[in-house]
Amino acid sequence: MKSLDDLFMHFLRDIYYAERQLLKALPKMAKNAQVPALKEAFTAHREETVHQVERLKQVFEHLGKPAKGVPCEAIKGLIEEAEEVIGDSEAGPVRDAGLIACGQAVEHYEMARYGALIGWAQAGGHKDVIGLLQQTLDEEKKADRLLNDLAVKQINKSASVTAKAA
Ligand code: FE
Ligand code: FE
Ligand code: ZN
Ligand code: FE
Repeated sequence: MKSLDDLFMHFLRDIYYAERQLLKALPKMAKNAQVPALKEAFTAHREETVHQVERLKQVFEHLGKPAKGVPCEAIKGLIEEAEEVIGDSEAGPVRDAGLIACGQAVEHYEMARYGALIGWAQAGGHKDVIGLLQQTLDEEKKADRLLNDLAVKQINKSASVTAKAA
């Protein structure tokens, strides 16, 4: 990686890989969540992710490069953490609280990546793809806020009651 363009392409491929992994991971998270609002949050964000993958394809196309992923160890690890929570807990508010924390870690990773890509697009003369990347960044931020609200307003309280009862 010698130039900002190289860096841009590397992390575009990184997030492309990550988003496609999430297409598989989000249904598992939805399936294992108990509270309907949380199931719905993961399911709705999975649907958004389909469009995010499409936007990334448009960015590749604009740059005249094939849409190709490069393995992202970070997203593999974050998904593995979610699977660990599922494996080590029973269905209920405690698992839900853990799934939210794992889901937010994923959104934060994506926010970091899209934020950097937007900055590099601005600096490197690809201002025409900023809109596509910004649209997705806004969705990631919205997903993060929704998960946070579910935890703070509802699920953490239920989980703390569960812990006391056990
Ligand atoms: Fe995403
Ligand atoms: Fe990565
Ligand atoms: Zn351009
Ligand atoms: Fe996301």
